[in-house]
Amino acid sequence: MTETLHPKLQPQFDAVVARNPGESEFHQAVHELMVSLAPIAGKRPDYAQWSILKRMCEPERQLIFRVPWVTDTGEVQINRGYRVEFNSTLGPFKGGLRFHPTVNLSIIKFLGFEQVYKNALTGMPIGGGKGGSDFDPKGRSEQEVMRFCQSFMTELHRHIGEHTDVPAGDIGVGGRELGYLFGQFKRITNRYESGVLTGKGLTWGGSQVRTEATGYGTVFFAQEMLASRGESFDGRRVVVSGSGNVAIYAVEKVQELGGTVVAVSDSGGYVVDEAGIDLSLLKEVKERQRERLSAYADARGGAVRHVTDGAVWDVPCDVALPCATQNELQAEHARTLVAHGTGLVAEGANMPCTAEAVTILREAGVLYAPGKASNAGGVATSALEMQQNASRDSWSFEETQERLRQIMVDIHRQCLETAEEYGDPGNYVMGANLAGYIRVADAMVALGVV
Ligand code: GLU
Repeated sequence: MTETLHPKLQPQFDAVVARNPGESEFHQAVHELMVSLAPIAGKRPDYAQWSILKRMCEPERQLIFRVPWVTDTGEVQINRGYRVEFNSTLGPFKGGLRFHPTVNLSIIKFLGFEQVYKNALTGMPIGGGKGGSDFDPKGRSEQEVMRFCQSFMTELHRHIGEHTDVPAGDIGVGGRELGYLFGQFKRITNRYESGVLTGKGLTWGGSQVRTEATGYGTVFFAQEMLASRGESFDGRRVVVSGSGNVAIYAVEKVQELGGTVVAVSDSGGYVVDEAGIDLSLLKEVKERQRERLSAYADARGGAVRHVTDGAVWDVPCDVALPCATQNELQAEHARTLVAHGTGLVAEGANMPCTAEAVTILREAGVLYAPGKASNAGGVATSALEMQQNASRDSWSFEETQERLRQIMVDIHRQCLETAEEYGDPGNYVMGANLAGYIRVADAMVALGVV
């Protein structure tokens, strides 16, 4: 945690650390928000009087449950399920479910905390929460994934609802898992409550553009950042980390806007394709075959490099879009980007840059957008899905995409206006955090101590 806190905020941060021992990712997310609050520290007696910050750092409800299931060979497996219902001031708890072996309470709390301010920035009526499990879908059969999802929902169903808490996808949870989760919810509740989950398939209540939304939204946001300097994606060299849902659709939109994505990565390394990533091959390998990038490299033969050591950030680029996972872009990577003259970093993942990396980028004058602003397109489109479900309507791809683009333009404008208002023009981190925080805090004051 590189930046120091305002003296009025340091004791509050120390209290969060003492109260939540060992939860380093959660501490990191809270610290990042608190750094941005310096301009209002001590200047909003109403927030202090109502203990707003203290209440914000304590989730409204934290659920941890056992998820028992049986493998194809008859073995009983036990996983741990989580749902952290962080803040429902602006609407029902809203946020994804992550299935990944690294999932623990700290990760879910950091994600839930970020989600509150991200969701506030979208301007939609949604609170924030997050959930998931340490279950690893990799290498599991269809039936095993289905049984796990059914067991997970057997417990989760009693805590969620369209007016209570609305989960969606995240890492390891896509259309397939959401289908099994929704099927089990429908069966045990005997209700076709479409608005209880988002990211649904198009034939069973889903929205156009939801699949593409996080990646597209990140690129729309980056497009606005470039435009603020009179630039565009046209002719730019772009590196995207990851090759999951966010990364794939970031690649797609960059290509549509005239940029060239020269590299993508996964946990086994990265591929450099100087001709530009072959998107249909990437989708075939990752979405249909659920294979590694080595399969992409094999299919492209000698035309690409598959690198299994180092980091994708070693590939020189004008624009870097971290779309993999938390803390994937560290200080040394930030230094490499600066040395290569990268001008823009916009986060598609949640908290992919470490605090130290952010400081290095910002001090070097690199335009940097935090995920809670630049990746808000996913959850914003989830809110559009809820809107369509509530009115039993469905909109066209074009209309939905235009709404998403407009929301991203709006978030970008809010970030810049807020940063300017509080004396640090161009600081997207401060702009995003303050704009989100103030919206939630004002509503919390209005609703009293609950
Ligand atoms: N998991 C996504 C995020 O990090 C989307 C959440 C949602 O659509 O509710 O924002």
